[in-house]
Amino acid sequence: MQTNMHKAKQLDKHDTLGHYREEFYTSSEKIYLDGNSLGLLSTRAETALLHLLNSWKEHGIDGWTEGEYPWFYLSETLGAMTAPLIGALDKEVMITGSTTANLHQLTASFFQPYGKRTKILADTLNFPSDIYALKSQLQLKGLNPDDHLVQVKSTDGNTLQTSAIIEAMTEDIAFIILPSVLYRSGQILDMETITEEAHLRGIKVGFDLCHSIGAIPHQLSAWDVDFAFWCTYKHLNGGPGSVGGLYVNRKHFGTAPGLAGWFSSDKAKQFDMEHNLTPATHAGAFQIGTPHVLSAAPLIGSLEMITEAGIEAIRKKSLQLTAYFMNLIDKELAGYGFTIANPRSDSLRGGHIYLEHKEAARICKALKANGVIPDFRNPNGIRLAPVALYNTFSEVWQTVQILKNIMEEKTYTNYENKRGVIA
Ligand SMILES: *Cc1c(COP(=O)(O)O)cnc(C)c1O
Repeated sequence: MQTNMHKAKQLDKHDTLGHYREEFYTSSEKIYLDGNSLGLLSTRAETALLHLLNSWKEHGIDGWTEGEYPWFYLSETLGAMTAPLIGALDKEVMITGSTTANLHQLTASFFQPYGKRTKILADTLNFPSDIYALKSQLQLKGLNPDDHLVQVKSTDGNTLQTSAIIEAMTEDIAFIILPSVLYRSGQILDMETITEEAHLRGIKVGFDLCHSIGAIPHQLSAWDVDFAFWCTYKHLNGGPGSVGGLYVNRKHFGTAPGLAGWFSSDKAKQFDMEHNLTPATHAGAFQIGTPHVLSAAPLIGSLEMITEAGIEAIRKKSLQLTAYFMNLIDKELAGYGFTIANPRSDSLRGGHIYLEHKEAARICKALKANGVIPDFRNPNGIRLAPVALYNTFSEVWQTVQILKNIMEEKTYTNYENKRGVIA
């Protein structure tokens, strides 16, 4: 059945977030569907970066305490701006470190093996960096990762069952790390139920929010999650290598940072330069050293925009975009060997579409050659992320037409079915 462009144009016309696209550096020649790997630059983020660069120009060392955004408090300021996106209190959130570094910090601080409880529970589908960090943290505690890291298996290779996660919460588990949204299939895990079940068994639980923050709302405080961490360069549009974030539930305030540094300090005491640390009495205690001011700066602009647009409205449009995408794929690409491997229901579907195809690597190359930017995930996955703040329904429609043409004409066979260095 033929679909047409008219419907897409109508959807764009009624899109209340549509005007935000003008604030982003998009290209008329490209359809950018990789915002789940690196969000695009907005003029607000650019202005914020230039603003902080200027504060260095103007104030030199005094920029730490002067100017509109004193650098000394920037992690706290940005933390407070982020808090509503995850349902947390201002003081529970810091913009600091990176995803992996924050996972190290939080594991060093909250993984306290005792008695029979000496193991960490994770899963087999998480991003490798998280698993590397957990294994090395076990080793630092003298525990063998081969038997102290338990990884929940997937029955279909793409998703995890809540029941399997709960079953794995045995009495030897001290600590759980799971992603909020799986980076391939985009499945949203039931963070509330998992947290509740973990706590019934005396287990602490933390989530990696890399693929959910900025795309879906969270209620970390209400769910009583112990801690969380994330990057800011995906759906938060902070720019390449932008500073990450962490959340620590207020009930854990007062826990000493496992990896301490002078920025873990109570700010009033920091410049006393004492050799005994007095940690901040909030999530600030989990900072380590001097903040990466210029890599955090764009977030001032991008968080302001996300707050203004509203995370509920962003989620609503994101669901509409991905539903429309799946609908077109079902209609237009049937018979070409694609499988929609992301969960279809709204409650389980994150911010991107995940297609599987045995020729995925070279189909991605053909898409790029035709101006569509997807990303490939070894061995057979194509991720397509239509982002609420800058993608349009028309772009989704065009992408499906381009993909259909690539399959019809078999132009993907012009490329090798092998991934690039970054894919
Ligand atoms: C993107 C991503 C990372 C990246 O970690 P960095 O420390 O920011 O390089 C880690 N974990 C997950 C689940 C991710 O999606």
